[in-house]
Amino acid sequence: MADKKRAVFKRVPCDICGKDDFERLGRPKISMKFLPVLNLKEVFIVRCKHCGFYYTQPMPFWSPEDIQNIYNSDYFPEMSEWWKRFKTKVNPQRRLDVVEQCVPFKISGFLEVGCGLGYGLEEAMRRGWDVYGQDISSFFAAEVKEKLGVDAFPGQLEEANYPERFFDVVYVDSVLEHVPQPMKMLKEIRRILNPEGVAYITVTNEDALINRFRSFVFKSLLRKRSPILSPFSYPFHLIGFTEATFRKACEIMGFEVKRLVICAGANEWRKYGIKEVGISRIPNIVYYPIYALGERMGEGIAIEAVVSPNLNQPASGKP
Ligand SMILES: [Zn+2]
Repeated sequence: MADKKRAVFKRVPCDICGKDDFERLGRPKISMKFLPVLNLKEVFIVRCKHCGFYYTQPMPFWSPEDIQNIYNSDYFPEMSEWWKRFKTKVNPQRRLDVVEQCVPFKISGFLEVGCGLGYGLEEAMRRGWDVYGQDISSFFAAEVKEKLGVDAFPGQLEEANYPERFFDVVYVDSVLEHVPQPMKMLKEIRRILNPEGVAYITVTNEDALINRFRSFVFKSLLRKRSPILSPFSYPFHLIGFTEATFRKACEIMGFEVKRLVICAGANEWRKYGIKEVGISRIPNIVYYPIYALGERMGEGIAIEAVVSPNLNQPASGKP
């Protein structure tokens, strides 16, 4: 019985190309508050030598009890006013506007995968869509049900057993990075998505200028830590994409990338009239200009993509 309460750590091949050939980059930063509650084993961040996918090795597969400990009421940190507005209003509005431009019919079924507190759901409800949520955390699923009255499935996406081709839009905001096997999740999204519909997916861009800068600094200081899979430190982010690996994953899972932007940074925030962004904390004095420069160079910290089922190619799961 004890096993069911503990994470299982397994050596895994690359989830995208299936090869088991990687280089170790260093250790992740650990959220110290989890040390007493999780049986955290030592892990490395590695990079697949064949396709460049970043992942944790060995990979933790959290127990149901761990998951409820990791994703609970303190998961979302206290947000400043401008950041809150950006995360909860500006981003969902902007993204669902794009979705409406990409879907040539009246949208009905909308699913937010890993819905958390349901920012995407709220915006979709405002547009009169028929909304569903899913979250691995029963805490978040219950919150969304209580606050928004939305049917949110508590558990893995595959366990929800949504009917095939059921949703016109699937919204996946910063979720794939938390999943040990993102390809399985992409495959399920492909199955439940209307062939004429779209998925809006956002992931962290691990090739961001800020990561390259911090990798250089850490190496120069002979630190054993890697900045990859940050800023959400272990145990949250378990895998990491670049534009190339994200496109590869989509191709293998039978998706066509209709639109992809690399964004997130000071310029983007300003564009939305957020004047409060700034140098309020010491690390930002160094990082803020690098975020801004990275964004200008097309090396910002986020990848946002609209993908649709490629009708000529089934989700093969094979590279
Ligand atoms: Zn690979």
